[in-house]
Amino acid sequence: MTEKNTSTRPLETADWTPAPCDVCGSQTSLRLGEREFVVRGRTRDFAMTFEDAVCAVCGFVHAGRRPDSQFLMAYYRDAHIGHRGGELHFDGDARLEAVAARTPKGGRIIEIGANDGAFCKALSEKGFDAFGFDPVEADEAATVDKGFIGDGTSQIAEPQSADAVIAYYVLEHVIDASAWLREALALLKDNGVLIIEVPNYATHPGDALNPEHLLHFTPRTLRELLIRHGLEPEETGAIAPTVPYGQAIAVRLVNRKQAERPHRPSAAYLDEGEAALVEAQAAYRLAKAERTGRIIAAHSAATLAQEAEPSGKASVFVWGANEYAERVTPLLVEHFDDVRIVDKSDSKIGTPFPGLDAPIAHPDCAKDTKSRIFLLCSPNWNAQIAKEISASGWDTLAVIDAVTGEDIGGKR
Ligand SMILES: [Zn+2]
Repeated sequence: MTEKNTSTRPLETADWTPAPCDVCGSQTSLRLGEREFVVRGRTRDFAMTFEDAVCAVCGFVHAGRRPDSQFLMAYYRDAHIGHRGGELHFDGDARLEAVAARTPKGGRIIEIGANDGAFCKALSEKGFDAFGFDPVEADEAATVDKGFIGDGTSQIAEPQSADAVIAYYVLEHVIDASAWLREALALLKDNGVLIIEVPNYATHPGDALNPEHLLHFTPRTLRELLIRHGLEPEETGAIAPTVPYGQAIAVRLVNRKQAERPHRPSAAYLDEGEAALVEAQAAYRLAKAERTGRIIAAHSAATLAQEAEPSGKASVFVWGANEYAERVTPLLVEHFDDVRIVDKSDSKIGTPFPGLDAPIAHPDCAKDTKSRIFLLCSPNWNAQIAKEISASGWDTLAVIDAVTGEDIGGKR
């Protein structure tokens, strides 16, 4: 899908460089497919062309070419939405418990990808010396530094000072996993713990193919990458992920030399390469089909909205600030003058949404409008939200399920 850039907004493009496999280092990969996106940021658009590839030696799925770090930095500051991805209500208590159980009392915790600093704050309240890094602007959060680890330039924290380094849904976004790990491990004390949580490509391949993920880990590839870098997984294996599509692992830094100069991958890992390659190709086909389905649904939902009010003179409410909203909103703003994102989550209300001037608002703002169209973006709650809209007594032109692309009510 190539999206035309009809606006006069600046369009950012990246320099894409071929990259070897992050897990085994092989330069040989097989092409899986290509994906093109134009992502609407707050002030400009970002063009991305992903070349999905699978390592021919070990079966690791990754972006065969990687964008330059300057582009990525600009992207994350302008276009990224924190706490994104469908129903992303991560289990904060489980996260807190898992980190606290592995860190000495009052110990120093560094979070990479700290978003607005909410989790660092929660850790501080538990008595830990916690702070974080994030490229996203977060002026109000004293615990978050704007430095971005992984490009070799961050000298912000004292080396070997952390009892724990934690990174939730970060490693799948980085340009070079090995460089990122080296830098993260330089902050960690010997025998300190590293906790990583990333999407699980083995169980949820469709979720991986969004405009931000460059590296697609399965439990097997993630484990091997960490072991090669001198890290030892806990005997109990993986810890519970805090979102349904994720995987989590806690590892200890047992060999600093190896962290700086990673070992070759193990023979056992390479032996499984061929079977993993076949599996990865099958998973990719499945993911592509799922992805295509989501794009078709967004177009179908936008078409239904246009049919409900061909003049474009209606207030359109996209309910749920997530990836479904991101897909359908650019299609709606082409036709309608008044498109708003609404969400009941306090952490989202008042924050900007890519490509729109108005910040995310509470659904109650629909009260003061006349011709209303609703597009519902919650895979699990759309039926319930439709009932809520119907019970509100508001006149609606249409209620459309933006996840399935179907009309589910309206016209009263
Ligand atoms: Zn490989």
